[in-house]
Amino acid sequence: MKVLVINCGSSSLKFQLIDSESERCLAKGLCERIGIGGSMITYAPEGGEKENTVTPMEDHTEAIRLVLEALTNPKTGVVKSLEEIGAVGHRVVHGGEKFAQSVVIDDAVLAAVVECNDLAPLHNPANLIGIDACKKLMPGTPMVGVFDTAFHQTMPEEAYMYGLPYEYYQKYKVRRYGFHGTSHSYVSRRAAQVLGKEYEDVKIIVCHLGNGASISAVKNGKCVDTSMGLTPLEGLIMGTRSGDIDPAIMEFLAKKENMGIEDIMNVLNKKSGVLGLSDNLSSDFRDLEAGYHKGDANAIRALKTFCYRVAKYIGAYVAAMNGADVICFTAGVGENAPIVRNFVCEYLGYLGVELDQDANHKRGEDIVITTPDSRTTVMVIPTNEELAIARETVRLVN
Ligand code: ADP
Repeated sequence: MKVLVINCGSSSLKFQLIDSESERCLAKGLCERIGIGGSMITYAPEGGEKENTVTPMEDHTEAIRLVLEALTNPKTGVVKSLEEIGAVGHRVVHGGEKFAQSVVIDDAVLAAVVECNDLAPLHNPANLIGIDACKKLMPGTPMVGVFDTAFHQTMPEEAYMYGLPYEYYQKYKVRRYGFHGTSHSYVSRRAAQVLGKEYEDVKIIVCHLGNGASISAVKNGKCVDTSMGLTPLEGLIMGTRSGDIDPAIMEFLAKKENMGIEDIMNVLNKKSGVLGLSDNLSSDFRDLEAGYHKGDANAIRALKTFCYRVAKYIGAYVAAMNGADVICFTAGVGENAPIVRNFVCEYLGYLGVELDQDANHKRGEDIVITTPDSRTTVMVIPTNEELAIARETVRLVN
């Protein structure tokens, strides 16, 4: 079956058409600046030239119409007609406590997703607009929702509760949810498979280090803890997000800098992380690495602080699972920055981690980067959230 995977943001939309039998990506692309002028669609068929077309996109329905037109284009398209697309898989950011699994989308599901909008006001409404636009243009094609939060719904109460008055959980469901679940699930399963172990028998720590970053503890096939919380702001230091801070810093800064809560949230989401720590050098680890090699104090501070936080979380999750067999690195930074893996693993002597430096500098495939004598195995597993969404979609539609 050919599955269209859609990841819809407020002004952008990423798509891939995946053939579920061969698991090949037949075409992929991106619509940018939807509804805000200067819109552009990027389309790349498998093995073909990437095309960028500047074209008006008033709304997401128009964006999806252009995506479908590109996919069926007689010259550069990859399907003859829309009938060849058997299903659509949608990434949905927040499923609250309602969705511990992916689901076939119907009216009841849509209503339940709307109820989660408060928990992800920037993301869920955009995801819903994408679903709505696809329903209009492809009526009759089954649609599946795959939630970023679902994989983490197996966490025990002691891992997901905050030390806050219980009434806030009862009234508003304030608790840890976690994100990047599709990636944590895909990478942990793949790690077990590559090592030839039963997923239900291993303790795995997944470090998803991208622009957004989170860690999860996966024990015997179930997520038991993860670093992001009610929102994706908690946990690791990220590209521009602060991760964990003393909550009282908010009041302190509000008074000193005469800021309101929205200004503070803007600082924590957009001006912090390695960008803020490097005194605005960059949120991109390529720049930080280059700076590090030149001896730039801002780059060194940002990289070292980032890696220390990752190592601390690994320690916490070793405690949560009473051990760890495998530690996986994934996403933009985790897959491409040997320097980050090196710094993190320097803290893991107590786990008997011995890095194989040659392997650590290889790129691309699923790979073990520790020596055969290393007591704990460390791996790099490239994530593939689109493929994971396509697999879920086929499983549910069938
Ligand atoms: P997200 O999906 O959260 O936007 P990604 O997982 O795509 O993020 O990761 C993007 C980040 O990966 C970039 O901001 C950059 O810091 C980092 N990155 C990408 N390529 C490299 C590289 N070759 N070396 C170091 N860091 C890299």
